[in-house]
Amino acid sequence: MPLTIQPLIDLADTDHNLQKAIFARSHLERQINNAREIVDQHKKLFEQKNEELANLNNESKEVKNTIQTQEELITRLDGQVPKIRNEKEFASSKNQLEESRKVLGLMEDKMLELDIKREDLEQEIGSINTQLDESNTEFEKETSGLLKKYEKAEKQIAKLQPRRIRLLKKVPQNIKRFFERCQESGILTPICAIQEKSCGGCHMVLLPQLVNELMANANLHKSCPNCSRILYYPVTEEEEASSA
Ligand SMILES: [Zn+2]
Repeated sequence: MPLTIQPLIDLADTDHNLQKAIFARSHLERQINNAREIVDQHKKLFEQKNEELANLNNESKEVKNTIQTQEELITRLDGQVPKIRNEKEFASSKNQLEESRKVLGLMEDKMLELDIKREDLEQEIGSINTQLDESNTEFEKETSGLLKKYEKAEKQIAKLQPRRIRLLKKVPQNIKRFFERCQESGILTPICAIQEKSCGGCHMVLLPQLVNELMANANLHKSCPNCSRILYYPVTEEEEASSA
């Protein structure tokens, strides 16, 4: 004979499994996001270093232009030397040449410095790229299992959620209201089975009288004197099998 309390037990079980699935899903989501974070970090660093390289290349280009300008100026000044007519012109040309050669020297040093920097940076980008590839592979490997589990949890939730609503309609109004009120105030398991003579929710040891009463009548439910959850005595699998 099916227990009249059965809808209550089914509701408690369904709700418990639903909560487990929801918890599993959010836990998996966090794990997947954490795994992705490492890839994102490498990606960000890769982009940042490439931007640095682009800036460096621009700077090199400017230095190269300056070098070219100075070289042209020096050639022009050298070409003018034979046409110098007096001391004054000679002094001025000499000054200009010296200045130009000085700038050229500085720019050549700068160019060398930039070349070394670029070489280092290119090497760094190469190793970051390797790390990025590795973390991507790792992410895919790690998350393929997680994603499957995530999908499974989603399917379970999609199945359990409507079942919970259906079962909630089957229980008496006052219990339904109690159930909803409890969950709104943060008690996730308002209906509990007795476990080892204790409340399955707050784990307080129950008076033997209460346990015996519920054990004797599987259709009965009572409130826990400590946390006021609804308690019932669980039918064990053997008992279920023997009654079937
Ligand atoms: Zn309790």
